[in-house]
Amino acid sequence: MRMAAILAVVAAGPAMAEVPRVVTDFGPVQSIVMDVMGDLGLPAVLVQGGGDPHDFQLRPSQAGDLQQADLVIWTGPELIPSLGDALTTLAEGATVLQLIKDGGGVQRPFEEAEEHEGEGHDHEAGVDPHAWLNPANGAAWAGAIATALGAQDPDNAATYAANAAALQGRLAALDADLIALLAPVKDRPFVVYHDALGYFTDHYGLTVAGAVELSDATPPSAARLADIRALFEAAGAVCIFPEVGRDPVLIATVTEGTTVRVGAAQDFEFLERPAGPGQYEAMLRDIGTGIATCLQG
Ligand SMILES: [Zn+2]
Repeated sequence: MRMAAILAVVAAGPAMAEVPRVVTDFGPVQSIVMDVMGDLGLPAVLVQGGGDPHDFQLRPSQAGDLQQADLVIWTGPELIPSLGDALTTLAEGATVLQLIKDGGGVQRPFEEAEEHEGEGHDHEAGVDPHAWLNPANGAAWAGAIATALGAQDPDNAATYAANAAALQGRLAALDADLIALLAPVKDRPFVVYHDALGYFTDHYGLTVAGAVELSDATPPSAARLADIRALFEAAGAVCIFPEVGRDPVLIATVTEGTTVRVGAAQDFEFLERPAGPGQYEAMLRDIGTGIATCLQG
């Protein structure tokens, strides 16, 4: 009896290891971290309830959450410039993983922002922040996230690594599906709402004719609307894709009297899509399926 109790305590030892308290920046990253942590823990998120990551400002209560964090996992200042300063005063022993910089994925230049420098965008110069829209980046980040979690929590390192490998396997299968789905419509031009899909369209070789909104911080003028209609005609745009939570009236205005079809609204910044296990890959599948469906139609 006594021996059994002692053995039980010894056996329970590794399970008592502290799972890190993790804070993420926004829904796509939170979802990938949920996949990697599995049942071991639940990552917190800073951008909540339909918030736009590009406009995010840390609330005072969230500064307290950050002080409790063991590990902060975020896209980087390319996406949320205001968060960099808050991360200089974390608790002792806390670590930060910046995914665009250190997550091991590919980067692409933010051409639109460069062309329109000084028109109100506030991104870090040069790098397109929407890097989660390349599934290969999500796969690379899952590995980096597992490594960062395992460094803080060695007892569970193998579980984090196995969960990341499972996600990478699912993403590889999804990628093969999307390559097959999108190949037939590669040459059909389409218009997006904001200039965010570059990682996705580069990866699948799609043809983007332009964006309705110049950058995340610049609403289009009447002159810009006329330019967009001229662009539709010149490029032979087949479809335009609105975004959930962003100006549907504008889309209706620019497409009125044209033959451009309005495709499924996209939500790759998780303005309404809830974060959760499997939601990162579900978002990618929805983007690809929506584009293929409209362009085929
Ligand atoms: Zn964006």
